[in-house]
Amino acid sequence: MESMLRHLPSVDKVLSEEQVRQLEKTYPHSLLLDLVRHHLERSRQLIAAGKPCPSLDEIVDAVCDQARALTSPSPCPLVNATGVILHTNLGRAPLSKEAMTAMDDVAGGYCNLEFDLESGKRGSRNSHIEQLLCQLSGAEAALVVNNNASAVLLALTALARRKEVVVSRSQAVEIGGGFRIPDVMRQSGAKLVEVGTTNCTYFADYEAVINPRTAALMRVHSSNFRLMGFIHSVTLDELVTLSNRHDLPVFDDLGSGCFLDTSNFGLDPEPTVGQSVASGAGLVFFSGDKLMGGPQAGIIVGKKQLVDKLRKHPLARAVRIDKIRLAGLVATLVHYLKGEALEKIPVWRMVSAPVEEINNRARRWAEAAGSLARVVDGETMIGGGSLPGGTLPTKLVAIGGRGGKNTAPALSRRLRSRQTPIIGRISGDKLLLDPRSVLPEEDKIVLEALKELATHA
Ligand SMILES: *Cc1c(COP(=O)(O)O)cnc(C)c1O
Repeated sequence: MESMLRHLPSVDKVLSEEQVRQLEKTYPHSLLLDLVRHHLERSRQLIAAGKPCPSLDEIVDAVCDQARALTSPSPCPLVNATGVILHTNLGRAPLSKEAMTAMDDVAGGYCNLEFDLESGKRGSRNSHIEQLLCQLSGAEAALVVNNNASAVLLALTALARRKEVVVSRSQAVEIGGGFRIPDVMRQSGAKLVEVGTTNCTYFADYEAVINPRTAALMRVHSSNFRLMGFIHSVTLDELVTLSNRHDLPVFDDLGSGCFLDTSNFGLDPEPTVGQSVASGAGLVFFSGDKLMGGPQAGIIVGKKQLVDKLRKHPLARAVRIDKIRLAGLVATLVHYLKGEALEKIPVWRMVSAPVEEINNRARRWAEAAGSLARVVDGETMIGGGSLPGGTLPTKLVAIGGRGGKNTAPALSRRLRSRQTPIIGRISGDKLLLDPRSVLPEEDKIVLEALKELATHA
């Protein structure tokens, strides 16, 4: 081992290599010195662990790769051909042009975020969006925070701490990514009172547990799973009836927060924000970046007296929204107000695209990939905690053949390693690409990539 360590180049030796000297033009010497020291130290540890001594070239390559990786833009854009429209790992909703422009406009300078231009005095960041949300949902008041998880946490903390919140056992669920209703309850200091059974919960179950410590009845939308068979649940209207009798609010965690009727597209009806408000829910929570199609946010609409309590709570300051996303949310909501959501909001353009149009695009994609590809019937998922089990008909491009380079995993890797990566999904021995979750503006990226795959098949 001692002798191996002696084979390791010195720091100066690595720094004097041509490739590293080239980097000195772009990166400060101190950074390169750090990286070289770090890699030599790692090499020493590897040798100590019985691994062979890395060559000078390997060390130089590792240093150069890391310097480039550290300074390359990240996260980087990619093409989502997975067929899951709201893919949390891929950044959920793509934004409309108008939303991007609005965000860009406030990003580089100052704006009237908390400044009232009329009076010249301090204003409120919520004032930019509250009326829009009230107009669209029919609610008395609205508040926007960092994301839906923080919206729920804020409400439970502000209104139910050291008190009880009643939830059906079938709704004490995990949404994914660590958001579990029982855990959020515990974090807020509210006590979760589960009622009913996994498959059946009745009005009387809720009624039986209401006591002076009860702070609210809560409904959680089963946004990522479906119960089937022998089931019973209590409707929101029934919950409101019961809560009114006891002068309690109903909290409704909608998850996705839909403003349009999904049954127009052959999907199951996703509960809309307006329906929850009309039913009389005290507070309704939903995400900005799911079916609403905007940037990440948690949106709360409901009764003024309750929303006002959330506004004043110290946690509201800790989970507040930033100016850039606020501008994007407003621009996204304006699309709904103008009745142009289907044409402007990418998520809704994808949902509403006729299957013939998808078919034409799939044929062009398949043509570009030549003999590797064929078009098959398939289904697009909405994803992102909405419409579990609900899918849209689509046409998929199935690619893959024999031979090392053309297996589905190899093709998938080649598409992922491009400057603009393209992400599909593997099913059996095929890589499937779904044009429905790709905007037509991105087709040229896909076509170019598929042509290259075909030429190097
Ligand atoms: C997605 C979801 C959440 C979490 O929303 P984020 O905006 O991701 O924090 C909470 N509740 C339900 C029902 C959801 O579907």
